[in-house]
Amino acid sequence: MTVVTDAPRVRDPRTVNADLHCHSTVSDGVLEPAEVVRRAHRHGVELFALTDHDEIAGLDEAQATAEALGLAFVPGVEVSVSWAHETIHVVGLGIAYREPALVAGLARTRGGRDARARDIAQQLAAAGIPGAYEGALEYVGNPELVSRTHFARFLVDRGYCADVPEVFDRYLSEGRPGYVAHRWARLADAVRWIRDAGGVPVIAHPGRYKLDPLAMDALIEEFRGAGGLGIEVVSGSHTPAQYDEWARAALRWRLLASRGSDFHGPDESHVELGSLPPLPAGLEPVWSRWC
Ligand code: AMP
Ligand code: MN
Ligand code: MN
Ligand code: MN
Repeated sequence: MTVVTDAPRVRDPRTVNADLHCHSTVSDGVLEPAEVVRRAHRHGVELFALTDHDEIAGLDEAQATAEALGLAFVPGVEVSVSWAHETIHVVGLGIAYREPALVAGLARTRGGRDARARDIAQQLAAAGIPGAYEGALEYVGNPELVSRTHFARFLVDRGYCADVPEVFDRYLSEGRPGYVAHRWARLADAVRWIRDAGGVPVIAHPGRYKLDPLAMDALIEEFRGAGGLGIEVVSGSHTPAQYDEWARAALRWRLLASRGSDFHGPDESHVELGSLPPLPAGLEPVWSRWC
């Protein structure tokens, strides 16, 4: 006689509604960390990461809120990196966020933001928009994290532009009057801070970078060589056609695949928390280890 035991069935990670990229008022999001977590839970997210730009200050609050709701939580961060004259974002997932090297590295990465903000304001003043530094600060939730997004909100509310993307197009993108070049963290440093904190480094929204295929290959090679492990495939910053393009890239480069809305707020983000489609077939989800 054959005895068949009903071993507990482990859920296929691919079916888990994971949203592993979003922002709070600790960087350039519009909702407090606890509100972002509650919203994620309300919208059906089952595994959630808060990934503020260069900052971990929202993670205690987010983690406590997630725990109270019974929502699985992954501590994260999105590190600003300068690579070959481009700004690249590296998401760190599952980080032990009190690790001193990570904390110090992020503090250094944030360090130049205030001086940059003053420069942006000076350039905007020369372009006919006075008072933008003080104006942007009214939208800032964390004085260490003044972002171009805060300037954009100020310009929209003062009627200079209709919405945030228009401000970037006209004033804040490279080549525009309010753009200030800036040096962020080095790629290898960002990857090392994340790895040494037990986390998984993931290239954020690869479809957004203005890199030709050769430069993208070089970026990925350097990222992998430094210890990088994953890439965002299904992202709020990608078109559906790009989901397939970056799925092929993830397979080709043998990178783990991630999924995240890059939610910044209800009125600004075109993608709601937890609402993206699942990963294309054949990919290894970066979140298997947390399910
Ligand atoms: P910063 O780190 O201060 O340079 O600001 C970068 C942030 O600006 C990104 O994380 C996005 O939230 C926002 N951003 C960048 N480009 C655009 C764009 N074209 N439209 C809207 N938001 C943008
Ligand atoms: Mn942002
Ligand atoms: Mn980003
Ligand atoms: Mn982001």
